[in-house]
Amino acid sequence: MTDVIIIGGGIAGLTAANRAAQLGLKALVLEQGSAEKYLCNSRFTGGTLHVFMRDIMDDPAELTRAIVATSNGFVTELLASTMATEGSRVVRWLQDEGMRFMKASASAHHRWVLAPPGRSRPGLDWEGRAGDVLLRTLGDNLTKRGGAIQRGTRAQSLIVENGRCCGVVAQTAAGEVRLTARAVVIADGGFQGNPDLVRQYICAHPEKLKQRGAGTGYGDGLRMASAIGAKLIGMDRFYGHLLAPEAMSNDRLWPYPYLDPVATAGIVIGPDGERFVDEGRGGVYIANAITKLTDPSSAFVVFDHAIWEGPGRNGLIPPNPHLPKEGGSLFKADSIAVLAQTIGVPDGALTQTVQAYNAAHTGGTLQSLTPPRRAEKYKPLPITQGPFYAAPMCVGITNTMGGIAVNEHGQALSVGGSIIPGLYVAGAATGGLEGGPEVAYTGGLVKGGVMGLRAAEHLAQARVG
Ligand SMILES: Cc1cc2nc3c(=O)[nH]c(=O)nc-3n(C[C@H](O)[C@H](O)[C@H](O)COP(=O)(O)OP(=O)(O)OC[C@H]3O[C@@H](n4cnc5c(N)ncnc54)[C@H](O)[C@@H]3O)c2cc1C
Repeated sequence: MTDVIIIGGGIAGLTAANRAAQLGLKALVLEQGSAEKYLCNSRFTGGTLHVFMRDIMDDPAELTRAIVATSNGFVTELLASTMATEGSRVVRWLQDEGMRFMKASASAHHRWVLAPPGRSRPGLDWEGRAGDVLLRTLGDNLTKRGGAIQRGTRAQSLIVENGRCCGVVAQTAAGEVRLTARAVVIADGGFQGNPDLVRQYICAHPEKLKQRGAGTGYGDGLRMASAIGAKLIGMDRFYGHLLAPEAMSNDRLWPYPYLDPVATAGIVIGPDGERFVDEGRGGVYIANAITKLTDPSSAFVVFDHAIWEGPGRNGLIPPNPHLPKEGGSLFKADSIAVLAQTIGVPDGALTQTVQAYNAAHTGGTLQSLTPPRRAEKYKPLPITQGPFYAAPMCVGITNTMGGIAVNEHGQALSVGGSIIPGLYVAGAATGGLEGGPEVAYTGGLVKGGVMGLRAAEHLAQARVG
């Protein structure tokens, strides 16, 4: 008999399956993709194993404090400390599985990056790289351990008997199948690929967002879990970046380059020529704020020559020179007024916005702007040195941050807060590990690795009980 059925063959699912098999359990992974190299975000990943954009090996107590403080308590101390403490173990475990790591840049969070790196040039470039190697390695290891991945099998609903989750009803090309086990792990990757759920929770216009990933998270897991009483948490936030609008049809413009380095140094404006978000909170936060605009395709980033030549060249695949080179729009003018006319926003309003921002920058009063501008993490620069630039932006949604509430073992929690026996959740399907009102970004790979290991170990220890 199968001990555990895992829904989804990304990092979360394959980590859970391999760890369960290592511990003597019979593991079966159901994967909706039918291709041998089925697409998923883990296949496309950049491969940086970080916790909260810090070195995953940092002092766990310090990492925990940072996650709890920055998320303003949305991520509980227990869950934050689970991620902070176990992140390093994920790296070691993956090394033991045969994965190699490299240092991708001098930034602390780039210390542990899957090799060969998943970010080598503009556009999508995954074959033989970080995530592709990871899935092949973990898939092969699972087979050697007696487990299996059943592709072309899309889980539809959970089987519950005597109050315990004990299987899955799934759809295959041959029809519906009923598969039973002692426990189920949901690891289906979030709901970014489900326009109805995105419309319900994130943005009124999902068609204006670019899938900055495989788009294979359909929200099936949270729908199934919710049907048996699971609690959903933090559903309105996502991990993503600021792309050029041309990324909608030009595959050289996603997942990289993104415009975050210039947006966090200059200003972001709406169609009225005014700022509407604190750019100092980072690109993921700005992306979330843009989705709440009446028209999420109406925001621009505005900056000057010094920003373009400075932060514009930051990052592994920076906007300068890749944005214009690959066909992304970049407008340039000798004055802010002409720039405003070029991009079709009121020139008086934009001139006033830039003047107020520059004055606050000079006077050290950025915190008094509406909205305020933080300066601790991303250094604000004045917009004074022509030529001046504006770039329209399109939000790229990579994966949703919210999902099924879990405890520190990855056990699914009910609306009432009790454990749902036999049901575990890992990776982007979880809720409460990142996001919340402050859009705290903990890290997609670490969520998959940590909760994959924890879920497998808990159900093995309890002999799936
Ligand atoms: C371009 C890019 C770069 C990234 N870079 C980084 C990075 O550097 N660091 C980082 O931490 N994170 C990064 N991320 C995010 C990270 O890769 C993801 O958060 C993580 O891989 C998610 O893993 P997962 O296993 O939860 O989901 P996925 O990898 O999405 O796997 C879920 C699987 O479940 C399957 N599935 C869905 N529904 C069903 C169903 N009903 N039945 C059966 N199967 C189903 C899907 O087909 C998919 O294969 C990046 C993502 C992208 C796209």
